[in-house]
Amino acid sequence: MILVTGGAGYIGSHYVQYAREQGEALVVLDNLVYGHREAVPPDVPFYEGDMGDRALLDRIFSTHRIDAVVHFAAYAYVGESVQQPARYYQNNTVAALTVLEAMRAHHVPYFVFSSTCATYGNPQYVPIDERHPQDPINPYGESKLFVERILRAYDQAYGLRYVALRYFNAAGADPQGRIGESHDPETHLIPLVLQVAKGVRESVSIFGTDYDTPDGTCIRDYIHILDLAQAHAQALDRLRAGAPSDVYNLGTEQGYSVREVIAMCERVTGRPIRAVESPRRAGDPPRLVASASKARTQLDWKPRFQDLEEIVRTAWNWECNRRF
Ligand code: UDP
Repeated sequence: MILVTGGAGYIGSHYVQYAREQGEALVVLDNLVYGHREAVPPDVPFYEGDMGDRALLDRIFSTHRIDAVVHFAAYAYVGESVQQPARYYQNNTVAALTVLEAMRAHHVPYFVFSSTCATYGNPQYVPIDERHPQDPINPYGESKLFVERILRAYDQAYGLRYVALRYFNAAGADPQGRIGESHDPETHLIPLVLQVAKGVRESVSIFGTDYDTPDGTCIRDYIHILDLAQAHAQALDRLRAGAPSDVYNLGTEQGYSVREVIAMCERVTGRPIRAVESPRRAGDPPRLVASASKARTQLDWKPRFQDLEEIVRTAWNWECNRRF
């Protein structure tokens, strides 16, 4: 059985749905600060609570026969992490350590960690591979990097087997429209742009038009949420089959500029989208594109959503029919 922390959040809930359909037995822990109870299927055991609550973790590990934790629970607003670093280190690092300590006490051998390309900081080269130096430029990225370092030490000292997955820009939704992205506040580009198309926002800001990129706007690698879910499942399969701990980038290896994303959203929705050229947002590197060949070869990971159009289509379907 798998404990999924943060299983009611955007990425966690898509993993839960995917793994459940693969026949995995799951239990979800989520404090519902940002997650949605409706995002978790009703037949999956659900604990509402904090991952830093050791007594609750002990109860969960004593009640269920858990051999793996897939760990999504975290705060993930980069800007907020600069304003409120304590909140980020406390939740993303200290509470994660509590989960690892509870795992150690209950002899739980496997851990799949939701890490991020934000651990690399400003890229020295693109595409970014896993050997790129890690030098985060905000507390969010640092709070995740600390966990990667803790995992390495726990592997060496205690034999914990883990995979850390460094995602690029998670995007899209369940193609059947059952779940999707729902942040409050929403800060991510694709949902904001689609909400303009839907008519619930007047315009979207383009943060910076003077970057050293072909159209002056930032370039990102948007990876579909189901492809992320699949990678977590394959990472855990490998650990269970005896593979050593490892880290992998997850991205499509394709970069799209902010203007290209907006143009694609206009095409998919068939509606004009008002964009307002605005100043740069602090902490945004001009170009983040993954090299994901390691995941493709070693995890046998085959992303199904290769182009942005398909990704935007699933996000638009959710935006038009969202339940939460
Ligand atoms: N972005 C933008 N306007 C917005 C939100 C985001 O221009 O209202 C840009 C942002 O500067 C970045 C890209 O879109 O270059 C993706 O941002 P997002 O917040 O979706 O993800 P991040 O790259 O921060 O993880």
